[in-house]
Order: sequence, then C-alpha cells, then structure tokens
Amino acid sequence: MRPFTSTIFAEMTALANRTGSVNLGQGFPDTDGPRAMLDAAKAAIDSGANQYPPGPGVPALRQAIAEHRARYGTRYDPDTEVLVTVGATEAIAASLLALVEPGDEVLLIEPYYDSYAAAVAMAGATRRAVGLTEEPGTGRLGLDVAALRAAVTPRTRAVLVNSPHNPTGTVLTRDELAAVAALCVEHDLVAITDEVYEHLVFDGREHLPLAAFPGMAERTVTISSAGKSFNCTGWKIGWACGPAPLLDAVRAAKQFLTFVGGAPFQPAVAHALRHELPWVDGLRDSLQDKRSRLAEGLTDAGFAVRPCEGTYFITADVRPLGFDDGERLCRELPERIGVVGVPVQVFADHPERWKHLVRFAFCKRDEVLDEAVTRLRKLG
Ligand code: PMP
Ligand code: GLN
Repeated sequence: MRPFTSTIFAEMTALANRTGSVNLGQGFPDTDGPRAMLDAAKAAIDSGANQYPPGPGVPALRQAIAEHRARYGTRYDPDTEVLVTVGATEAIAASLLALVEPGDEVLLIEPYYDSYAAAVAMAGATRRAVGLTEEPGTGRLGLDVAALRAAVTPRTRAVLVNSPHNPTGTVLTRDELAAVAALCVEHDLVAITDEVYEHLVFDGREHLPLAAFPGMAERTVTISSAGKSFNCTGWKIGWACGPAPLLDAVRAAKQFLTFVGGAPFQPAVAHALRHELPWVDGLRDSLQDKRSRLAEGLTDAGFAVRPCEGTYFITADVRPLGFDDGERLCRELPERIGVVGVPVQVFADHPERWKHLVRFAFCKRDEVLDEAVTRLRKLG
C-alpha cells in the first residue's frame, strides 16, 4: 500500500482547514439535500432502524434502485441483481476484488478517480491507463478509442468506465460508449461503470449507462451512489447493479469488507430515489449556473478553462498565468492567496500529460465561488 498512503482529498482539505482557505479541492457540497430525505433518516432512527440491515440492503432501497435504473431501459431484479454498498467506493472495490484475478489487467481512463488504482492493486491486478485526448478546436477531453483498443492484451479482464467523468467533467457520448461496448463484446471484457454523477449533466446532455448498449447487460456492473445526487456525501450509500452471476460475486466480496452499512440512511435514500428526482433537476440546473459562474471567474483571472459537460468539477490550464506545474501551484496557493484546488496529475500514471491542469469544485454557494475568484485574481 506504499503508493496509496494518503488521498489527495484528505491532504488538501487538511491544508484548507489549516490555512483558512476557500476549499474548492475535495468535492463536497456546502448545502444539504432535500428536507424530506433528511427527515426520513431522522424518522428511521426514531423508529429503530439502528441495527444491521439485511446484507444486500433494505428491500425498499433495492426496489427503488431497480425502478430508478429502469428509467434508462435497464432492468434488474431487486432481489438478485441489486446490492447496496457503503458508497460507490465500496462497490468499486468489491467489484474489482470479486471479478478480477491476480495478474489480470484492468483498463482505466486517465485521469482516473483515485480509488481505482488502489482497488486494482488490492485485487492483485495491473492497471493500464489510457488517456483522454484533447479534441482539436473545442479542447474537450474525449475518449481515444484507438488507444483504448491498443491497450487490450490477452490478460485484459475488465474496463472501468467513469462518466460523467471526474476530474475532467467530460460526459462520454453515445459514439464513445458504443465503441467501449464493442470492445468489451469483442474481447469478452467485464465493464465496471462508475456513474455517481449520472444526474449532473449540463446543457441538455443525456447520461447514457454503458449497460444499456448491445451485448453489455450481461457483462456490466453498474455503480452509483446517493452522495452527489442528493448532497449527502457523508452518508455513503452506494449500490451496484448487474446480472446475478456477477453480482453474486460482488456481494460475496462486499460482505467481508463491511458486511452492511448505513441502516437509517437506506430508507431515506429509497425515499429520495422515489420522490426527489425533481429536486435533483433543480440541483443540476443550479450546478450548471455555478459551472458557468466559476468558468467566467477563472477565465477573468487568467486561467484557460476546459469545457465542463457534467459533474461538479471544472479543470483549468495554469500555463497562461505563467505556471507550468499544477501540483506545485496547488501546494502554494493556500499560503499565497487562500484557495485550494486539486492538481489533475495526481489522477494519472502519466502525470506529465496533466501537469498543467488544476481541478476546482463548484458545488459551493455562489458567495464562496466569488470569494475564490477574487482571491485567484491576485495571481494575474
Ligand atoms: N467515483 C467518483 C468518480 C467520485 O468522484 C467519487 C467521489 N465521492 C466516488 C466514486 C465515491 O463515491 P462514494 O462517496 O459514494 O463512495
Ligand atoms: N469524490 C470527491 C472528489 O473527487 C472526494 C472523495 C474523497 O474525498 N475521497 O473530490
């Protein structure tokens, strides 16, 4: 575990707290989720939902998850094909531990969320990271399908796909996902998808689950969680959905990681999935405005902002301001001007490719974003 001793998020949040900085590093909202969801958790505690819940999750939540996935045209049996986990993080780790053997290779899309590399290592597997590439003209970081194809070897067992994508804000298109699906079918790969930002897609875009593509239902474990959709990142209620033969293995791994978790939060999230999706639409619209607000502020401050299609992160190129190393800059910023961001290069096996990008979270109140921009202007 030597390469994985501390996460960049914990490190940067500690730095923000120590220096009193505006924290646009770790992605967590500074407002609460829907009132009725919070009340449902309190009511669950008061009604005694305080002991171990059933291993696969409380039935009402599994049912609500299956109904929610049906929106995308994907069908899961709540009894055998849905598993509640301690956040998406556990679902990702349990899926890799369950479905990948030591010596297997797992394809990741770089930059990638930090827990993937650690979970692949814990499974004894090897990661192969394929970089998103900048599209000429727009600067969008898109999927390099040819590079992904070229990275497949006889040992490749799985591909882990994250869309909407943290840290870049890219939302994979239908064509990109179709190409991933075709690759999986051709090489008989398992797909593990991380869709935690599924509701946070902007400018009329649509979230498309990989499991809905031809040939994918039987080979895909679809993962999501409540944290980002309902502003409750600390509740750590996540889930995995997939065909029973795959889910059986994921459930077996999960029961020896945490066994169960979050008893009173599970019925509250069931309520949220059933009744609070209009609230989430409002959250998405407000985040879209915040995206534009921070993008304008960063541009005014001299950064070159990359397109952000979803999530609550935006990436900015620091080179126009005369810096060439995002990580060094992020370590200096808190002391210098009191702002925390996260360097994109820490999410990569080829850090030199991402050295110029810094990620800023915009899931914050407008006045917090404005204060960050006021401080960042001092860099120019
Ligand atoms: N995947 C991605 C891409 C994330 O950004 C996060 C951040 N929380 C997670 C997984 C983990 O989700 P959870 O908090 O539900 O474990
Ligand atoms: N997902 C959040 C982010 O990307 C943080 C999660 C964490 O702190 N592990 O910033």
